[in-house]
Amino acid sequence: MGSNPLKAMNATLTNYAISGIISLMKISVVRLPDAITRGILNFIYPPRCQMCGKGLDLFSGKVLCETCYNTIRSGPHPEYNACKTGTYYFDASYSVCPYEGVIRECVHNFKYKGRFAAESLFKELMIGFAEKYIDMLRFDWLIPVPLHRVKQRQRAFNQSAVLGACLSERFKVPMLSGNLSRIRPGEPQMMLPKARRLNDIKGSFKIKNPDPLKGKAVLLVDDVFTTGATVNECSKVIKEAGAGLVEVFTLARSA
Ligand SMILES: [Zn+2]
Repeated sequence: MGSNPLKAMNATLTNYAISGIISLMKISVVRLPDAITRGILNFIYPPRCQMCGKGLDLFSGKVLCETCYNTIRSGPHPEYNACKTGTYYFDASYSVCPYEGVIRECVHNFKYKGRFAAESLFKELMIGFAEKYIDMLRFDWLIPVPLHRVKQRQRAFNQSAVLGACLSERFKVPMLSGNLSRIRPGEPQMMLPKARRLNDIKGSFKIKNPDPLKGKAVLLVDDVFTTGATVNECSKVIKEAGAGLVEVFTLARSA
């Protein structure tokens, strides 16, 4: 796809710098609205495609050029969304696209280099997919997969909660935050061999108050579905708290 690693790195650093400056402006005495701040910053640091570094239209609000955007294979992938009965605690799962290429790069940037960069892209992809393929109105709650408090502090935000908030705003399904919590930090799932992932995650999550979940339909939201071990463990405790239905919606899924 003709990506230039140097340019892409430069673009990433620029986005990182912009996020930092926006954060500084937010806590400074002069509180400018985000749109104005970004407008000013776009003149200082013209926006570039996060993948290939190509310059983007100043006011498009996009994070990818058209060529890179078009490589995203979003849509219903039956092999991802099928759910064998008895295999998992959740009743169904949906993912917008495979965890590859452009999306992989953007998720990494989003998680580790500041949320500003790809939030709008993920919002657009998840809402677009949900509008077409998920009956959102049947859910009573959206629950983002929580981070352990230590990791949350390091990262300053929970990427799943950001995605959950976008869906909640669009579909008017309330978010239940702070009830499902991660009580054991665990190692990053991607670093562990497959066999250890399921064991490592056991007992990592807890429901503080089961009352709001009794008989309810829940949509769990996360950024990436890797082996399903994390969302499965969350689904287990949500079901044990009395929920009648738990489905899972992630931005991406690794094969
Ligand atoms: Zn590009």
